Amino acid sequence: MEERAFFRESETTKPMTLNCPFCRTTDTYDLRWMLRKKLDQLPRGVDERDRARFAKFASYMVLLDDKAMCKNMRCRKRFEITGVQSVAFLD
Ligand SMILES: [Zn+2]
Repeated sequence: MEERAFFRESETTKPMTLNCPFCRTTDTYDLRWMLRKKLDQLPRGVDERDRARFAKFASYMVLLDDKAMCKNMRCRKRFEITGVQSVAFLD
Protein backbone atom coordinates (compact mmCIF):
# COMPACT_ATOMS: atom_id res chain seq x y z
CA MET A 1 0.00 0.00 0.00
CA GLU A 2 1.28 3.46 -0.81
CA GLU A 3 2.30 5.73 1.99
CA ARG A 4 -0.13 8.42 0.95
CA ALA A 5 -3.03 6.05 1.53
CA PHE A 6 -2.42 6.43 5.25
CA PHE A 7 -2.68 10.20 5.26
CA ARG A 8 -5.21 12.88 4.53
CA GLU A 9 -3.59 15.65 2.55
CA SER A 10 -4.45 19.30 2.65
CA GLU A 11 -2.70 22.56 1.93
CA THR A 12 -2.13 25.17 4.54
CA THR A 13 -0.14 28.34 5.00
CA LYS A 14 1.93 29.42 7.94
CA PRO A 15 3.53 32.77 8.61
CA MET A 16 7.30 32.62 8.73
CA THR A 17 9.85 35.34 9.28
CA LEU A 18 12.33 35.54 6.42
CA ASN A 19 15.28 37.74 5.72
CA CYS A 20 15.86 38.86 2.13
CA PRO A 21 19.53 38.28 1.25
CA PHE A 22 19.52 41.17 -1.26
CA CYS A 23 18.20 44.09 0.78
CA ARG A 24 18.38 42.50 4.27
CA THR A 25 14.76 43.33 5.01
CA THR A 26 13.04 41.04 7.45
CA ASP A 27 9.35 40.42 6.94
CA THR A 28 6.68 37.83 7.52
CA TYR A 29 5.75 35.56 4.65
CA ASP A 30 2.88 33.13 4.36
CA LEU A 31 4.53 29.94 3.20
CA ARG A 32 2.55 27.09 1.71
CA TRP A 33 2.75 23.67 3.30
CA MET A 34 1.33 20.30 2.39
CA LEU A 35 -0.18 18.94 5.54
CA ARG A 36 -0.24 15.14 5.77
CA LYS A 37 -2.40 14.13 8.64
CA LYS A 38 -2.27 10.52 9.65
CA LEU A 39 -5.68 8.88 9.44
CA ASP A 40 -7.38 8.14 12.74
CA GLN A 41 -8.01 4.60 11.62
CA LEU A 42 -6.33 2.16 9.32
CA PRO A 43 -7.80 2.01 5.85
CA ARG A 44 -9.60 -1.17 4.87
CA GLY A 45 -7.79 -4.13 3.44
CA VAL A 46 -4.39 -3.67 5.03
CA ASP A 47 -2.15 -6.55 5.91
CA GLU A 48 0.11 -7.05 8.92
CA ARG A 49 3.02 -5.29 7.27
CA ASP A 50 0.95 -2.19 6.54
CA ARG A 51 -0.39 -2.30 10.08
CA ALA A 52 3.15 -2.14 11.44
CA ARG A 53 4.07 0.69 9.08
CA PHE A 54 0.98 2.64 10.04
CA ALA A 55 1.88 2.41 13.72
CA LYS A 56 5.18 4.15 13.02
CA PHE A 57 3.77 6.98 10.93
CA ALA A 58 3.23 10.43 12.34
CA SER A 59 1.48 13.44 10.91
CA TYR A 60 3.82 15.84 9.22
CA MET A 61 3.97 18.73 6.83
CA VAL A 62 6.21 19.48 3.90
CA LEU A 63 7.17 22.94 2.78
CA LEU A 64 5.96 23.54 -0.79
CA ASP A 65 7.52 26.92 -1.41
CA ASP A 66 11.22 27.11 -2.06
CA LYS A 67 11.33 30.77 -3.03
CA ALA A 68 9.70 33.93 -1.76
CA MET A 69 9.34 37.35 -3.31
CA CYS A 70 10.73 40.18 -1.21
CA LYS A 71 8.02 42.42 0.19
CA ASN A 72 10.24 45.47 0.10
CA MET A 73 8.79 47.49 -2.80
CA ARG A 74 12.22 48.73 -3.84
CA CYS A 75 13.62 45.23 -3.98
CA ARG A 76 10.93 42.70 -4.99
CA LYS A 77 13.57 40.08 -5.76
CA ARG A 78 12.88 36.40 -5.47
CA PHE A 79 15.10 34.64 -3.01
CA GLU A 80 15.60 31.09 -1.81
CA ILE A 81 13.96 30.19 1.44
CA THR A 82 16.67 29.08 3.81
CA GLY A 83 16.79 28.41 7.50
CA VAL A 84 13.36 26.80 7.48
CA GLN A 85 13.12 23.09 7.99
CA SER A 86 11.24 21.74 5.00
CA VAL A 87 9.69 18.84 6.88
CA ALA A 88 8.02 19.32 10.24
CA PHE A 89 6.50 16.55 12.30
CA LEU A 90 3.31 17.16 14.20
CA ASP A 91 2.39 15.34 17.36
ZN1 LIG B 1 14.71 42.30 -0.72
